[in-house]
Amino acid sequence: MQGVGPGRAELLEKEIGIKTMGDMLNYYPYRYVDRTKFYRIAEITGNMPHVQLCGQIMSVEEFGEGHHKRIVGHFSDGSGFIDLVWFRGLKFVSKAYKVRTPYIIFGKPTVFNGSLQISHPDIEEAPTELYYNTLKPLSPTLPLNEEGDIPSYNPLSLPSPDRERGAGEEGKPSFRPHYHTTERMKKSFLVSSTIAKLMGNLFKLITQPLPETLPQPVVEEYHLMSYDEAIRNIHFPTSAEALRRAQARLKFEELFYVQLNILRYARNRKQKENGFVFSTVGNAFNTFYHHYLPFQLTGAQKRVVREIREDMRSGRQMNRLLQGDVGSGKTLVALLCALIAIDNGYQTVIMAPTEILAEQHLETLRNFVGDMSLRIELLTGSVKGKRRKEVLQGLIDGSVHILIGTHAVIEDGVQFRNLGFAIIDEQHRFGVAQRAKLWNKTTEQRGSFPHVLVMTATPIPRTLAMTLYGDLDVSVIDELPPGRKPIHTIHRFLAHLNDIYASMRRELSLGRQVYVVYPLIEETEKLDLQDLERGYAQMCDAFPEYKVSRVHGKLKSAEKDREMEAFASGRTQILVATTVIEVGVNVPNASVMIIMNAERFGLSQLHQLRGRVGRGADQSYCILVTKYEISATTRRRLQIMVDSTDGFEIAEEDLKLRGPGDLEGTQQSGMAFDLKIANIARDGQILTYARASAQRLIDTDPTESLPEYQIAWQRLNALRETNINWGAIS
Ligand code: ADP
Ligand code: MG
Repeated sequence: MQGVGPGRAELLEKEIGIKTMGDMLNYYPYRYVDRTKFYRIAEITGNMPHVQLCGQIMSVEEFGEGHHKRIVGHFSDGSGFIDLVWFRGLKFVSKAYKVRTPYIIFGKPTVFNGSLQISHPDIEEAPTELYYNTLKPLSPTLPLNEEGDIPSYNPLSLPSPDRERGAGEEGKPSFRPHYHTTERMKKSFLVSSTIAKLMGNLFKLITQPLPETLPQPVVEEYHLMSYDEAIRNIHFPTSAEALRRAQARLKFEELFYVQLNILRYARNRKQKENGFVFSTVGNAFNTFYHHYLPFQLTGAQKRVVREIREDMRSGRQMNRLLQGDVGSGKTLVALLCALIAIDNGYQTVIMAPTEILAEQHLETLRNFVGDMSLRIELLTGSVKGKRRKEVLQGLIDGSVHILIGTHAVIEDGVQFRNLGFAIIDEQHRFGVAQRAKLWNKTTEQRGSFPHVLVMTATPIPRTLAMTLYGDLDVSVIDELPPGRKPIHTIHRFLAHLNDIYASMRRELSLGRQVYVVYPLIEETEKLDLQDLERGYAQMCDAFPEYKVSRVHGKLKSAEKDREMEAFASGRTQILVATTVIEVGVNVPNASVMIIMNAERFGLSQLHQLRGRVGRGADQSYCILVTKYEISATTRRRLQIMVDSTDGFEIAEEDLKLRGPGDLEGTQQSGMAFDLKIANIARDGQILTYARASAQRLIDTDPTESLPEYQIAWQRLNALRETNINWGAIS
């Protein structure tokens, strides 16, 4: 390829994974700049995004010595001055750029020591007539959104031919693509504009239209731009409208194949994998339901139990995700379904993410079933020796009805007589591979698989759930048990510690208990633990009349349990802890949750933590504590917590603010997000279309043999080979 010698080829491959021309074509710009839009230096401030300027370097100065050397070019367009600053590649810079020559520069302005500067700008010579033109008043320009993208309208709506033409007429914008490059590439002057040039050369070589990558019926149905046109326009848009359509087309395609992959996998699995048939609801369920159930089920609990019951008797293996906000009563639903398994002669296993939680489940379930003749056992790392042998024996001979445990339950050596039902609580701590281990745990293999219920309080927004768990059915408990008061949430600065103590004292004097939570992040673990120890000492000082417990991940598990137990039983009134208490712990008498350094938690995590209180009938409080200096985004995130107690709403907002990559639970889901252009948070509408279209293809061409759809199957198989992450889900 023209302009690519061995050195550049190596950089392209090593730094951004470009090996072939095809890879190159699929390296999309991250931003477009309207080349007709030039800012004047007089308009520039330190908090603008990247800007394009046209002017001349009036004089050059060098500062510093050795490693600290830098070159500063004083750049002017007649309306003011801005400093262009280089720290690296100084030899090249001093040779390449000349004083009093018209240049176009592009970069992010900042303010340093009171003067405006742009460091390491993109720079190129300006045609003389352009240079004089830009000195005129500014022309109206396309509105760019925050990221500098072209704003997108209704993503797939067909543009009218008029509009398309219209964009080209008055002051036709001309888009310059900007490509991400790495530091190493920049050092070798393989910068965005170089890539744009290479891309231009590449298109000159491509004389035939690029072959279509979606089936023609799909292209037609959604009035999509052709692949050829889309690829050309994604790099060198001929108009704003063409760019928008190119983006929509490529996003659609990406999501279409993700969905096709998931849906085909789900269909194959459903056809292949039989489930045990739980045909009866018998003694265990009915006895419990009519004589032991301490309260009325909520409407949502009833509905979900019915949905699960339908799955269990269908003959197909159930794979169901149960979403329910913290405190919505998932444990009880799990128990009711386990009772159905028992009525049909099958064992149930419940997996929890931590020992504390497993033990709490054990206690809860044993309390629920009281003196019913059911054997419920615990298996964790701490269950050892004789006890362990007894439990393992009970699993093999079938006398254990329900096993509750941690990872320990999927270890080799744990065998069931007839495991029919697996419940995974708080799924995001369990990976897909671990789940699969369960399949081989039954000695009486009958060519069927245990039903699986994955429970989570991390609300996963619909769009994301569709992508992550396209093969899972989803049930939602969208109703809390009656009598719960919404938790009152406030945001306080650290400086207001006295107010916070006053709130604590008031609740403590009413006989309530208080959680104080500190973040614990691996990289800063030492500092975090210091924070926690200091916090513990402060609490002991401030509240001498009360007892304080302390729990963190570095404690031995026996010690941790002792501290937790002291708090749960009410012997201590304040619990200072890291996020080990995040999932599932239930102390209904606790009414205050104080979260220190709240800015360091994700929203979903804050919501989880907050859910530890508000479990009794009393008014509960959550106090989010931060230092005074926090960013506008952090402020907005905390405000969402203050305003809303709805986990789904919070998750949606979180997704919008942070993007899907950070969302808890997505890493291990087996469906990584290496989408190039689509964005799960923003392209929900396109995702819906893509999924519907993929489903229709699966229904229309179940044998994968219709000629007009061959493109899709071939491409899907090719993608599965080249993209490891795709394979992970199946
Ligand atoms: P989560 O969904 O967070 O796991 P839990 O199962 O721990 O919630 O339930 C929270 C609390 O609500 C428990 O104390 C449980 O006994 C109680 N609970 C569950 N269902 C009901 C109901 N239908 N009516 C009243 N209380 C309920
Ligand atoms: Mg729970």
